[in-house]
Order: sequence, then structure tokens, then C-alpha cells
Amino acid sequence: MAKTLELRPLGNTGLKLSSVGFGASPLGNVFGPVSDEDAAGSVRRAFLLGINFFDTSPEKSDSNFFAYGKKEEEEEEDLNLVRFYGGTLSEKVLGKALKALGVPRNEYIVSTKCGRYVDGFDFSAERVTRSIDESLERLQLDYVDILQCHDIEFGSLDQIVKETIPALQKLKEAGKIRFIGITGLPLGVFTYVLDRVPPGTVDVILSYCHYGINDSTLEDLLPYLKSKGVGVISASPLAMGLLTESGPPEWHPASPELKAACQAAAANCKEKGKNISKLAMQYSLSNKDISSILVGMNSVRQRFLIMNSMNSQFHSVTFYELGIVKPIRLVYRKPPHMFQLATYYELGILYYGRFTLSSYLTDLQLKNPIVFWKLIALVLVEENVAAAKELGIFGKDEKSLSEIEEILKPVKNQTWPSGIPQS
Ligand code: NAD
Repeated sequence: MAKTLELRPLGNTGLKLSSVGFGASPLGNVFGPVSDEDAAGSVRRAFLLGINFFDTSPEKSDSNFFAYGKKEEEEEEDLNLVRFYGGTLSEKVLGKALKALGVPRNEYIVSTKCGRYVDGFDFSAERVTRSIDESLERLQLDYVDILQCHDIEFGSLDQIVKETIPALQKLKEAGKIRFIGITGLPLGVFTYVLDRVPPGTVDVILSYCHYGINDSTLEDLLPYLKSKGVGVISASPLAMGLLTESGPPEWHPASPELKAACQAAAANCKEKGKNISKLAMQYSLSNKDISSILVGMNSVRQRFLIMNSMNSQFHSVTFYELGIVKPIRLVYRKPPHMFQLATYYELGILYYGRFTLSSYLTDLQLKNPIVFWKLIALVLVEENVAAAKELGIFGKDEKSLSEIEEILKPVKNQTWPSGIPQS
């Protein structure tokens, strides 16, 4: 298998992004019980696997990424959600983790956002100008590669055109940012802005939930974006959890009909020994006009695990996610400081790898309930990178994809409302 991930050019920027990007926003929000070393570990692992693109934000992420964690002194007894972390932690944690990589700054690409904050939206020139200084300080960086106006459908699009983007251009001239982007859910916001700004002003768009098996409407916009030289990042290839075996979080805005169809598709895949998330990643990755697929590689559900049983004969341990959805089996062997880690979903091994995780061995032997988020984040990073590499070698699993597409046909391209009415 190829050693590194494919790098793809991003519009006219000259940047080359790894086809799989690391969505770091959720990462920061749950770092209560996790050390900086652990955070650095998952970023390092991603980087070593070829991920060079890290996306963050100064606001709290969607409610599935609400930050909960355990107070250290309660670690043994209490897995309840006891602490909430505000929005800016992701940038801080990512900044530390990137610094700890110790590689030249030009080897990784960082994007952050402006205009959406814990206390609401503010796309004024004054706020976004202040915002980048705050972000740079938290990230411990001199510049970010991309600064994106965040979820612009929640602001006035005319303000974005006339005030926010000109303010970002000044930041570009000042060397604080290299490129300007806009993000949002409704695709119409991109054309609205791009039709009204001078060519070359907006370098990148970040769209989410519109290039996946259930919704591929971004495809229609790609020729337009290409003609304008605008780079395309597509986030949420798993439709924010819809295209996973464990299903979406409760807050997910999709209709019950869409949720049910995705779950039926996931169940169908599972029956056939396939994993819907892998197929969904490969579907999104297969369009090379999209530079990077930004996937969230950890979530509360994946992070909070309880050790359920231990089978000493086979040195295997079964963990269950809180919420009891997906059993995950970790297998470790001697020597004690080296784990061989495997994740089994009922119908087969998806990934088999090796990690040095000596500190967790003690926890395992103590049979304490433990938070195993890091392991799972690593597993997801490995799985998603492996999905990309396999795609490069074997191509898409057309048969399985067409079966899923058939199940999702009645809800194809169904989305949900986002934003404020525009005048
Ligand atoms: P996603 O579609 O990437 O889904 C993430 C969920 O899938 C998480 O619960 C994760 O644990 C799970 N998952 C990831 N890999 C998996 C695998 N291999 N198997 C099973 N489950 C897996 O959606 P997302 O997290 O919302 O989006 C990803 C990133 O994109 C975000 O972190 C953020 O950086 C970016 N994003 C930006 C915007 C915006 O700017 N407006 C909006 C959405 C997402």
C-alpha cells in the first residue's frame, strides 16, 4: 500500500492538501481528562500517516462536540459528564500539538475561522480583525494558511462581501493569513458571495454535508468553482454521523426519514460485512476536484468507553461506548509496552495495527473504567487514512455503493435549514 496520502492542489492557492483532512474542532472540546501529550499523540499520528491539513475554529463545534470530561479526582468512579469546555480550546490544543510535532511550519496547513463565536455571530471588520490575533496567539502561530468566514448564512451576505472579506484582505496583506475562505451549509451562499467579490479574492470554500453518499449536491457547483479558481474543501463525509454504524447524535438536524434511511443503509452494509463509514469516505474521496475531505475523527461517543470485560487467556478486552452501541475489542500482546490493536466490528477486522501505549496497560490491569478516547481517535485516523489508501489501489466498491444508493434514493439530497433569512 502507498506510504503516504495523496496530496491535492487547492484551487489557485499553490497549497497541496492531504486528501483526508483532520477536523480538529471536536478534538479540543473534550480535553478535560486528556493530557497535552495525548492530544499531541493523535495529531502526530495523523501527520505521520500523511495528513497535512488541520482545520480548527475559535467557536464551540456542533452540540455533539460539547466538551465534557471528568474531574481528575473523580476519574475512577464517575464517568458522568461533569465539565463543559468553552469554544476556544480546540485552537489552543491544536497549537500545542502542532508545536510538539517539531517540524517546519511549511509542512502543515492550518485553517481556522472567524465570525462565529461562543457568544454568537459577528462578521464585522473590527471583530474578525481582532479574532485572528486571538486565534494566532492560541495556535502559537505567526500566520494561518486559511482564514474562513464561518457559516456565513448566519450573517448578512452583503456584509460578508462588503466588509468582512475586505477586512480579511488586509489581514492577508499583513501576512497574518495566506488565503481567504468562506464556509456554510446552503450552497447558494457560495455563489452569492463569489459572484460579488473581485476574482481571486476568495480562495477557498468549505462546504459540509453536501458531498457524501446521501447528498452529493456540491457536485453541480464544482465546474463553477473550478472556473473561478476557487479551491474546494468538503467536510463531514459521514454526514455528521448519519453514515456510521452507531448512527448520528441526538441533536442531528436531519429529518427522521433521512436518519432512518441512513440507519437502514448502515444495517444493510453491516449484514454484508461492509462498513458504511469506509464506503462513505471512499465515495467522498473519489472526486479529485475536491482537495480535501475533512472528517471528524473523534467524538464523545467514541471517546468515553467503559472497560466491560477482560479475558486474560486471549489478552483481549472488550470496550463499549457509553450509550452502548458499538463493541470494540482491543487485543494486546507481549511485550507489555507494545499493543497490537485491532478493532473488530461484528463482521470482520477493519484495522489491525501497532501502538506503543504503555500508560494504558496499567489502567487495563487495574480493571478500572477508563477513558480511551485517544485510542479510538487513533483508530479512526488509521481507518480513514486506510480507506483513502485502499481507494487509490482498489478503486470504489461500486457494488456496495450502488446498494446503499438504492436504499437512500427516497431521501437523496435531502438537507435541513441553516441560517437566517437574507434580504
Ligand atoms: P463527519 O461526517 O466527519 O462525522 C464525524 C463523526 O463520524 C464523528 O462522530 C466521528 O467519531 C465519526 N467517525 C469518523 N470516522 C469514522 C469511522 N471511520 N468509522 C466510524 N465513525 C467515524 O462530520 P464532522 O465531524 O461534523 O465534520 C468533520 C470536520 O469538518 C469538523 O471537525 C470540522 O473541522 C469540519 N466542519 C466544518 C464545518 C464548518 O466550517 N461550517 C461544518 C462541519 C464540519
